[in-house]
Amino acid sequence: MIKHRDECIGCHSEIGCVGSTCLHRNVPYTVCDHCGEEAVVYSFSEEDVQLCEKCMELELDAEWKQLSFNDKCNYFGVKEIDI
Ligand SMILES: [Zn+2]
Ligand SMILES: [Zn+2]
Repeated sequence: MIKHRDECIGCHSEIGCVGSTCLHRNVPYTVCDHCGEEAVVYSFSEEDVQLCEKCMELELDAEWKQLSFNDKCNYFGVKEIDI
């Protein structure tokens, strides 16, 4: 998921932090929906669950195991040998 945090460590202006227009406020960052760690996240679609590389790999492995032999052959271009 995308979260936001305040990373302002004091704006360099006489009035201090410029508030809502401060570029260092509401800085977006992403968190894995499974393990909750801050990381680059991946998703099958915009609305779907967002996972870090580690969790997505487990997810993909699980998906892969559900594929049929034919699906896997199609993926790699594996062909039955004609005799
Ligand atoms: Zn600021
Ligand atoms: Zn994760």
